[in-house]
Amino acid sequence: MRAMLSLSDYLDLVPKVELHCHIAGAVRATTLVEMATANGVHLPRPAETLYRWQDFYGFLEVLRLGALAVKRREDFSRIAYECVEDMHRHGNVRHVEIFFNPHYYTPNGATYPLVVDGLAEGLEHAERDFGVSSLMIACIDRSVCLPSEALQMLDWMAEYPHPRVVGIGLDGAERAGPPLVWLEAWRRAGRAGYRRTAHVCEDNQTLFEGPPQHITHCRDALGCDRLDHGYNMLADPDITARMARDGTPFTMACWSSIPPNRAPRRDRIQRMFSAGLNIVLGTDDPTMFETNMGHCWRTVFQHTGWGVAEARQLSLAGVQASWLPEEQRSALHAEFTEALDRLGAALDPNDRTLDLSVERSRAPMPRDAGR
Ligand SMILES: [Zn+2]
Repeated sequence: MRAMLSLSDYLDLVPKVELHCHIAGAVRATTLVEMATANGVHLPRPAETLYRWQDFYGFLEVLRLGALAVKRREDFSRIAYECVEDMHRHGNVRHVEIFFNPHYYTPNGATYPLVVDGLAEGLEHAERDFGVSSLMIACIDRSVCLPSEALQMLDWMAEYPHPRVVGIGLDGAERAGPPLVWLEAWRRAGRAGYRRTAHVCEDNQTLFEGPPQHITHCRDALGCDRLDHGYNMLADPDITARMARDGTPFTMACWSSIPPNRAPRRDRIQRMFSAGLNIVLGTDDPTMFETNMGHCWRTVFQHTGWGVAEARQLSLAGVQASWLPEEQRSALHAEFTEALDRLGAALDPNDRTLDLSVERSRAPMPRDAGR
């Protein structure tokens, strides 16, 4: 690498792991419109304004509506492939663990095996073309699913195990049901050898709807070894200190909220990092919120003033928090370390300008990518 890198270029090229991305929120709007036409699904708006909503709950509605247009195996394959392509081009993501909600698709006749096979095929092709490895996390949206449907999903997973599906997750509005409602399903998943996570303490929820105690319920009762969001936890210093001590990874998203909440959320991310929490940055619903990994990283670093040391810490934290088998995780760690050393040496220490545009990206060359 001959030319010196600006901080923007450096942050785009830092190798990353994406642990918080929902496939339903990562579909290109143009792709969704094409699929809706092919599948005879009526969408309320054209592609340019499809991903617009008034508040968090309006967003969840569009998310589920969009899922109705994805029906055929080739649709699932395409959305998975394009999602990873976007991650590769806009932020040098090297490994992804993607959430998918089977219950968004099964009412349309897409069976669990069809959904899994379609997504897995797209991920496999993306791995071949971009060198990005991937796993899948079957997810329950608590706003639309009952606890019995979580058990149903585990039945599907037992009947159709797939090597890429390694865990379960819980998303949707936390106010629709506290963690302990899902106890039976999460325990059963643990007995079946699945890793577990859950969205918890998201700041789109009030402290009453998503209180810090939910963190301990997720860790101690549901057996989650990684958690998503967690911002409301800051209201309880004891729980915050415990989570910092035990190193629980929290996957955080700086942009997936209504605009007035984004700066306060970045403050919370900075405070949680300063409190010693093990944080990993993710995009959540990148196309729906018009963001990507490179944009998220630049936005957070602009807000916090973080530099190379923090970039290195966050990059490697993503590897450590992944659910890859130990051997693959070690190999990825070595690869990231080598790439970080090389990028760090190429960074221009005097150029701290940060370009916050979404479309901007310095697409990784094979050498940059570290593979
Ligand atoms: Zn999420």
